Amino acid sequence: MAEASIAGITASEGIAIGTFFLRREMIDNQSRTAGTVGQEQSLFEDSLAKARQSLAALMARVDVSAAEILGFQHELLSDTDFLEPVFQLIGVGQTADEAWTEVIEGEIAEYTATADEYMSARTDDLRDLQRRVLGFILGTIPESFDVPEMTGLVLAATSLAPSEFLELDLGKIAGIAISEGSPTSHVSILARARGIPMLVGCGTRLTGLKPGYVAVIDTHNRQLIHDPHDESQNAFRVRLQNSSIANEFARRRAHLPAVTASGDHVRVYANVDDPAILLGVDAASFDGIGLTRTEFLFVGGHLPDEDHQMGAYRRIIEWAAGRPVTIRTLDAGGDKPIPGVTFHDETNPFLGIRGYRLSRIRKDIFATQLRALARAAVFGPLKVMIPMVTVRSEMDEFRTIFTDVINSLQSEGIACAVPSLGVMIEVPSAALNADSIDADFFSIGSNDLIQYVTACARDNALLAHLAQADNPAVIKLISMVAATGLQQDKEVSVCGDMASTPALVPLLLKAGIRCLSVAIAQGPAIKEIIRGWDGRELSGDGICA
Ligand code: PEP
Ligand code: MG
Repeated sequence: MAEASIAGITASEGIAIGTFFLRREMIDNQSRTAGTVGQEQSLFEDSLAKARQSLAALMARVDVSAAEILGFQHELLSDTDFLEPVFQLIGVGQTADEAWTEVIEGEIAEYTATADEYMSARTDDLRDLQRRVLGFILGTIPESFDVPEMTGLVLAATSLAPSEFLELDLGKIAGIAISEGSPTSHVSILARARGIPMLVGCGTRLTGLKPGYVAVIDTHNRQLIHDPHDESQNAFRVRLQNSSIANEFARRRAHLPAVTASGDHVRVYANVDDPAILLGVDAASFDGIGLTRTEFLFVGGHLPDEDHQMGAYRRIIEWAAGRPVTIRTLDAGGDKPIPGVTFHDETNPFLGIRGYRLSRIRKDIFATQLRALARAAVFGPLKVMIPMVTVRSEMDEFRTIFTDVINSLQSEGIACAVPSLGVMIEVPSAALNADSIDADFFSIGSNDLIQYVTACARDNALLAHLAQADNPAVIKLISMVAATGLQQDKEVSVCGDMASTPALVPLLLKAGIRCLSVAIAQGPAIKEIIRGWDGRELSGDGICA
C-alpha cells in the first residue's frame, strides 16, 4: 500500500507509532429464529440481567469516576420507563432484538437531534449499552476486542464505547483512531485522562485501511498516516522521542511549583469539565482547581438533585486534598443549551439569557445548586463563581442570595459553610469595571471575553482569524483586571483556553497574571513555560524571542 493520510479531530493529544489494527465489528446483522412472545420476553429479561451483571463486574474493577460513567448505563437497565416500550413491542410480536434496537435507536436519535454537544456525546454511552444487551440477546459474546498479543498497536474502529475502552489492555495500545465520535464523549475523556493519543471523526476511509501496516497518529496535525514512507516514519520517530523526553521531563517536575526565572510563583490550577478527567491525576501536580464547569451534571436536560450535586462537589473537593477548588455555577445558554432549562427562541443566544442571567431567573435550579455548594464547602476550601457577569449589582445580588441559602440551611440544622464568592470576567464591561465589583476573586474567561471584544461568535470557524487571543484590546482588558487584583489584593486567574496555550502564556504573565487554570493534560507543559519565562513574549512557535 502507498502512504495514506486521513484527517481527524483531536480527542487526546500526542504522537503514536505502531501496527495498524482494525477492530472487528462485533454486532453483525445476525438473523435468528423468533420465539413465542413469552420466550422473547424471558430472553430479553435474561439478557438485561446478564448485561447488568457484566456491567457491575466491570464497574467493580475500574476506579470510582470510570464506574460513574458506567453507572449511567447500569441505571438505565433498571429504569422501567425506559424499558417498558421494549416489552410492549415484544408483546405485539417483535423479537427481543428488534424491539430493543427500535427503542434504543429512538433514544439515540433524540440525543443526536439536540444541538447540545454534551448530550449528543452521550449517544456513545447508549450505543455501548445497545451493543452489550444485543450481544446477550444474539448470543455473541459482548467481549469487545480480540486484540493480538503484541504491544504498540494503533487501534482503529468505527466507534468505541466507554466500556469497550475500559476493557482494553491499554498496555498494548499506542494510539486510537475512530471513524465516528466527538472529543467531548466519555471515551475521549477517558483517553485524555490516560494519555492515549486519540483521533475521532476520521470518517469511513479509516476502516478501509489494511491491518498489519505501520501507522502514525499525529494529533498536532490532526491526522493518521497509514504505511508512511521510511523518511516520514523516521521523522515521526524522532519527534516521538523528543516529545517523550520533553513530556517525561515536564511530567517528572509536575508536582513542583511553577516559579518564573525572576522568582515569581505562578499558581497553576486545573480545569475540570467532567470529574472523570481526574482519574489517575495526582492532585499534587496542581495548586488546586480553578474552574469546574458544572454543566456535566445537567447532561440531557437532567436536573440533578441537591444530594447528587453535593456528592459530586464533595468528591472533587476531596480529590484536591486541602487545595482550593473553584466551582462555577451553571453556565447554561449560548454555546451550552440545556433542553428544558435554557430559552430556545432568542435571536442571539450568546447575547441572551445565559450564565448568571439565567440562574437568577431559574431560581429553583439555582437554589438547589447553591445549597449543594454550601453543604460541600464543609469538606474543604471551596470557591464559587458566577459566569457572564456584566455589572456590579449582579455580584451584590448573588451575595444576598447566597446569604439566604446559608440562613435557611442553618435554620434546618444542616451543616454548611460560606465559600469565597467570585465572578468570571467574560464581558468587556465587567473587565473595564472590575474595580467596582465586590467579589472575593476574579477569573477571566478568555474564550468569551475574546468573542465579546472582537464581536466574533466563538463557534464560527470562518471568523477565527479575527477572534485572536493576542488582540491588543483583549490583552489590555486582561492587564486592567490583573492591576485591579493587585490593588485590591484579590486573586485574578485566567481559566479560558488561552491559559492552556503555551505560546500565549508569556503574554498573560507579561500582563500581570500570576494564576492560570489549565486543561489537565497541559499542566506539566505550562509549568515548564512559566519556569522558562524571563519577562519576554514568545514567538509564534512557542520559543522565547
Ligand atoms: C471562558 O469563557 O473562557 C470560559 C472558561 O468559560 P466557557 O468556555 O465554559 O464558556
Ligand atoms: Mg465562558
